[in-house]
Amino acid sequence: MQLRFYNSLTRSKDIFTPLDPHHLRIYACGPTVYDTAHIGNFRMAVVFDVLTRLLRHVYPRVTYVSNITDVDDKIMDAAVAANVPIEQITEKYTKIYNDDLQALKCLLPDIQPRATDHISQMINLCENLISRGHAYVAEGHVLFHVPSFPAYGGLSGRSRDDQIAGARVDVAPYKKDAADFVLWKPSTETQVGWDSPFGRGRPGWHIECSAMAEEHLGLPFDIHGGGADLKFPHHENEIAQSCCAHGHTHDLSYFAKVWIHNGFLTVEGEKMSKSLGNFTTAQDLLAKGVKGEIIRFALLAGHYRQPLDWTNHGVHQAKAQLDKFYKLLHAQDHVEQASPPHRVLEALADDLNTPKVIAELNALYNAGDGAGLKAAGALIGILQDDPRAWLGLDNMSDVDADWINDLINARTVAKKNKDFVMADSIRAELLHHGIVIEDTKDGTIWRRA
Ligand code: AMP
Ligand code: ZN
Repeated sequence: MQLRFYNSLTRSKDIFTPLDPHHLRIYACGPTVYDTAHIGNFRMAVVFDVLTRLLRHVYPRVTYVSNITDVDDKIMDAAVAANVPIEQITEKYTKIYNDDLQALKCLLPDIQPRATDHISQMINLCENLISRGHAYVAEGHVLFHVPSFPAYGGLSGRSRDDQIAGARVDVAPYKKDAADFVLWKPSTETQVGWDSPFGRGRPGWHIECSAMAEEHLGLPFDIHGGGADLKFPHHENEIAQSCCAHGHTHDLSYFAKVWIHNGFLTVEGEKMSKSLGNFTTAQDLLAKGVKGEIIRFALLAGHYRQPLDWTNHGVHQAKAQLDKFYKLLHAQDHVEQASPPHRVLEALADDLNTPKVIAELNALYNAGDGAGLKAAGALIGILQDDPRAWLGLDNMSDVDADWINDLINARTVAKKNKDFVMADSIRAELLHHGIVIEDTKDGTIWRRA
């Protein structure tokens, strides 16, 4: 099976050739755990979960690493604001993130490394970069010297002026060059920090991923992913650090071969973000009774590289489609195990074309092919629930009492009209759903059978 992915590094859709077909290695930048993630953040998790499922279908062994950034100025601010140690913040939001991942039917990464467990690897990388002349120490900081790496900017294609403008940092007086970026920064006594040869301090964000990816996957590895906004400066800097620390200054693909970036989730055309306030969290939606699988399906409705606008209509459509598919699975009772239909695999193999997959799911539905539908669903992480449970037929406490009361009222009307056939059929319908009714002098009451 031939896979093709758009590689941001080559800027073309290339045939995928694994470095080692016996063991595929993939890394995606995970969250900074200072707050509850919004569903824009989860677009990446869902896209890379689908990618991992596809790779697992094709290759015998896949290691998927996605980190937790658990040291960061935003985390420190949140800890100060709540007057608690930073661990209390990071543990709380890591747990919520992982709960949300599972609610959205994402398999947890094989390895979920935490930045604070890899400080010594980050210090090593800094020392390598200093000894090779790519980094320098200034006022307690370690800085990567961008002019030492002429290939810098090759992933994002940014010009030097754009790089400086894009870095959006005040040009600190201790920087040799305006584009230089921080690998290590000093901490005050009250700030979280670790001893290092450069003084007590903490890592910059970019060095964390270079250290964790190398530690858990080795270099080079197959696929590196993240949201499109990470291309610059985060991914550009990861490449600079990892290639230069190992003397591979002419080959940007020495760190990762294929770079996959997902587009933004938008709201009325604007990027969903905490700062704009136009965000919805998975927690909000789940609390309103929107199932995680519906959120997931709605996130897969568009091609991963395109922006996807989040609307109530999209959520309703996702629910209606999933309900329809589950009804077929329910009607066919015991759906046999099947291998995923070829056309679905083909669509995924063509740069994860999930809109095409959804069209194929509808074709399978129209053909009444429940087994094919379920197997296709497994590839993108949907339709694996028990259809009875999905449709609310198992657990009557989940079915709203309104539905039962509507039927009871309809039966009362039918009895009044002496339509006993109808009245009996309503009683039978309720019984079929495990509800027993009883006529009392105060009216009809119901209970579970
Ligand atoms: P942030 O919290 O903005 O640092 O983002 C954390 C991660 O979520 C990064 O990988 C971003 O690329 C991704 N991300 C943030 N906002 C969106 C969005 N609206 N759509 C897609 N990905 C996003
Ligand atoms: Zn990263």
